[in-house]
Amino acid sequence: MRIDVLIVGAGFGGLYALHKLRSIGLRALVLEAAPSVGGTWWANRYPGARVDIQSLEYSYSFDEPLQQQWHWSERYASQPELLRYANHVADRFDLRRDICLNTRVEQAHFDEATALWRVRTDDGRTWRARFIVTAVGPLSTPNTPAFPGLDSFAGPVLHSARWPHEGVDFGGRDVAVIGTGSSAVQMIPLIAERARTLTVFQRTAAYAVPARNGPLDPEREARIKADYAGFRARNRRMRAGFGCELAPHALPTMQVSAEERQAQFEQRWQIGGFSLLGAFADTLTDARANQACAEFVRGKIRGIVRDPALAERLCPTHPIGCKRLCVDTGYYDTYNRSHVTLVDVGGTPIERITPRGLVAGGREHGFDTLVLATGFDAFTGPLTRIDLRGRGGLPIADKWRDGPLNYLGLAVAGFPNLFNLVGPGSTSAFTSVITAIEQHVDWIADCIGWLDASGRRTIEASADAEARWVQWVNHVAEQTVYPHCNSWYLGANIPGKPRVFMPLASGFPAYADRCAAVARDGYAGFVTR
Ligand SMILES: Cc1cc2nc3c(=O)[nH]c(=O)nc-3n(C[C@H](O)[C@H](O)[C@H](O)COP(=O)(O)OP(=O)(O)OC[C@H]3O[C@@H](n4cnc5c(N)ncnc54)[C@H](O)[C@@H]3O)c2cc1C
Repeated sequence: MRIDVLIVGAGFGGLYALHKLRSIGLRALVLEAAPSVGGTWWANRYPGARVDIQSLEYSYSFDEPLQQQWHWSERYASQPELLRYANHVADRFDLRRDICLNTRVEQAHFDEATALWRVRTDDGRTWRARFIVTAVGPLSTPNTPAFPGLDSFAGPVLHSARWPHEGVDFGGRDVAVIGTGSSAVQMIPLIAERARTLTVFQRTAAYAVPARNGPLDPEREARIKADYAGFRARNRRMRAGFGCELAPHALPTMQVSAEERQAQFEQRWQIGGFSLLGAFADTLTDARANQACAEFVRGKIRGIVRDPALAERLCPTHPIGCKRLCVDTGYYDTYNRSHVTLVDVGGTPIERITPRGLVAGGREHGFDTLVLATGFDAFTGPLTRIDLRGRGGLPIADKWRDGPLNYLGLAVAGFPNLFNLVGPGSTSAFTSVITAIEQHVDWIADCIGWLDASGRRTIEASADAEARWVQWVNHVAEQTVYPHCNSWYLGANIPGKPRVFMPLASGFPAYADRCAAVARDGYAGFVTR
């Protein structure tokens, strides 16, 4: 069977890539390790799992009837609803006939003689294709820290990203949660509702802003749907690819009075979600502005948590937004409950897991159920786990030993005809990811169309363009607060991972414009043969 494009992964990225590439006449096939489409929203089923960008914005825009007819029940859709949406899209666009589920790509080698990719999957099958699109997800490789003694734990050990599909009843249990990132912040209030006791092990305190979730306001839905295309277009001109209804204040944070600053933050706090970070345009680029916003949230924490000493331990000290901002429902208030305990393990790390708990700071803490909300080997993890080799048999893991090299976040020098979605080097997780996926896939489709029209067989990033791109990604990051804390954007959560700032912090419009300019200039920075 002739295959033009093998797409790895059937999350929102892989689904749209299949639809789009088919629509331009290419024979495309998706290989997906999981037994279902949906990616992130198939895997992450912990209590409270939901999107933290409003669903009217975190959804596909490529098909007007789809965006008109699909109705989200809540402002922020829950995991089951997002999974239903992914399945609906797969059915609606007849995608399933070209998706192989339960099929993990283990190896992909570029064969220079034939200019084809040779791919092997875990069921022993082999495939050949001209192009590969890796839609393997920015957050699809769960991170399980190598705690000594983890295997000895007598009760269940659950990871947020590998949650049992039948669900977990925490009723009457003594539960421990390790981690206080986005997933933990979503699940902790709900686990506390059921558990006998809950102990949270915190390495770094988290900034969380209220989601103010609820049923989707029908009036707002109707207003947006009356000009959905216009709304999407306006969002694509926003830094994060969403949030066009709320413009930041016209002045920088520190140029307005303290009262006005407070009022602006308070208004965003009441609106909920990421809107707080957009109250002023300089929150992520100016240290004093960032400090003002951070102090506002610390004030909220002190107002919510009744025990002042506990409130201080929950107050983060790093710049706000430097790690992904958490969007919560009742997170800080949960610590007012008498059966919930916070244990700091930042200064006194977890030493070992025992059959009935864990030891930190020389003290054993007991529990019978352990939840790991320990995140992901972000961006590079899923790719370096594939035996992926370009020209000269160079493994991607070697090429990226000191950090991920790429051009436009889409292509890697020495890896012809391979395109990566929402990984390092693009605005990726700094954007509403579906918006980024659509931009990437449309660009890739145009690029393949252009290559075919030119009669050439391969296209790859030049080493020069790649080096300049990586320099730019670093340069942009240095103008922001992002490098100033230990985040998964930097790979800091994975021992031994090179500390390199991975996503591009330029904002989505600047990135998309750059990609468009490269295409207009005949794919400048790429080499074709
Ligand atoms: C809990 C959680 C909440 C999130 N919330 C938001 C949010 O609010 N807003 C936002 O913009 N983004 C959010 N994200 C990021 C989210 O990952 C993206 O929004 C989006 O779902 C990514 O889609 P994708 O198709 O690129 O990747 P994924 O959905 O991760 O899909 C990748 C697929 O590739 C498959 N795969 C990987 N390696 C292989 C292989 N070797 N062979 C075969 N298949 C493979 C995986 O099994 C997976 O199904 C969240 C992520 C998580 C984990």
